[in-house]
Amino acid sequence: MVLAALADLVLPAECAGCGSAHVPLRQGACAACAAALRALRPRVVRPDPAPPGLPACVAAGEYAGPLREALLAYKERGRVSLAAPLGALLAESVATAAGGTRRPVLLVPVPSTPAAIRARHGDHVRRLADRAARTLRRAGWPAAVAQPVRALPKPDATHLDSAQRAIAAAAAFRLRPARLPRTVRAAAGRTVVVVDDIVTTGSTLAALTAMLMRADIAVEAAALIAATRKRHPQ
Ligand SMILES: [Zn+2]
Repeated sequence: MVLAALADLVLPAECAGCGSAHVPLRQGACAACAAALRALRPRVVRPDPAPPGLPACVAAGEYAGPLREALLAYKERGRVSLAAPLGALLAESVATAAGGTRRPVLLVPVPSTPAAIRARHGDHVRRLADRAARTLRRAGWPAAVAQPVRALPKPDATHLDSAQRAIAAAAAFRLRPARLPRTVRAAAGRTVVVVDDIVTTGSTLAALTAMLMRADIAVEAAALIAATRKRHPQ
């Protein structure tokens, strides 16, 4: 993390939002893109059709423009230092999703598959969740992260319809029995928020929520960094 942040300072990196080179960067973005990201306000989003069991979803912004480019740079091009600004955006989504109750929150990141973890040099959603929790704690809001579920290698879901997607998503996760009791204890007295980077169909969030609910972990909401277009704002 520190090395990646230093690399952004000493290497001629491009702006993660617009690709501009030879411009001053702050947290990986030029002034215009940083301002665009700062201007985002979390809002409730709902995939249409929403899969059964999908919790209330809050996203920091639409998956477009500098936000989309920054997420791609972070996920696909190894700009790990972008976890800081993206994690801060996720923290704002969590704050909205948790309803401003100021109850302590427990973030449960959607687990990455082993292949994604290898390709992306770590679990990119877990890293964002850790960043978001840190941002919230700095603001005086108790926040912790738990990962009681792991992801199995998943087949290509591109050509599946929504019902088939739901079945595939439900088969994609396994509980981690060794971590479960601790997570159930941690969830008591906290608002549990499932977190992911992007929501598209919502089938992954619904499947993870259902699995946690069956394990006596009551999910309150889902918080995302971005929602793909074709969402219906409420
Ligand atoms: Zn830019």
